[in-house]
Amino acid sequence: MEKKGVLIVVSGPSGVGKGSVLKELVSLKGVFISISATTRSPREFEKDGVDYYFISREEFEEHIAKNDMVEYNEYCGNYYGTIKSKLIKLLKENEVVILEIDVNGASRIAESFDCVRVFLFPPSFEELKKRLVERGTENEESIKKRLNQAFIEVKRAYEYDYLVVNENIKKAAEDILNVAKVESLKIKNQECRIEEFIENRF
Ligand code: 5GP
Repeated sequence: MEKKGVLIVVSGPSGVGKGSVLKELVSLKGVFISISATTRSPREFEKDGVDYYFISREEFEEHIAKNDMVEYNEYCGNYYGTIKSKLIKLLKENEVVILEIDVNGASRIAESFDCVRVFLFPPSFEELKKRLVERGTENEESIKKRLNQAFIEVKRAYEYDYLVVNENIKKAAEDILNVAKVESLKIKNQECRIEEFIENRF
């Protein structure tokens, strides 16, 4: 059995600070963020292999036919998803791979892939509202919509393995790394160590 990294699937409501916590995590050694593939065209400042893997519809459907998508969805006429072979390669090369996805995507991944699910939680409803308002990217109507959606998503936090409160970005990133550490110590993630010991007995 080969050594592999831990896959951490992270979800959380809009405004909780996923982007900032992920940025903090990616600056740490041994942590890699999984990149989705999409059939939509890149926006002006987006780069292939950084923001997404921008691929054609034909290529995406080939991955589906080969059972090479961990999870995918069609949104506004375009496919979005995670390529299984790329994720497996990432897990061989990195100790921790983070995959950010919504609650529906997370449950689809957990059905077919060994992973730990972390729900990033706001300190309070009031604080979530405050962050959405202060972000300044949404109008009142959109904030209302996002808060309603947050309510729906929070009720699904029970499906997750861990809940990390984003009171402080550094602390939240540290907590997620601690989850990865504990997971990596599980026997199922250290079988190669045991096998190697047994194989090399004299
Ligand atoms: P955008 O086109 O704005 O980058 O993304 C559109 C939507 O696709 C967002 O809601 C985003 O969360 C979702 N999305 C991005 N990557 C994936 C993925 O790998 N799987 C699924 N199911 N949705 C994704």
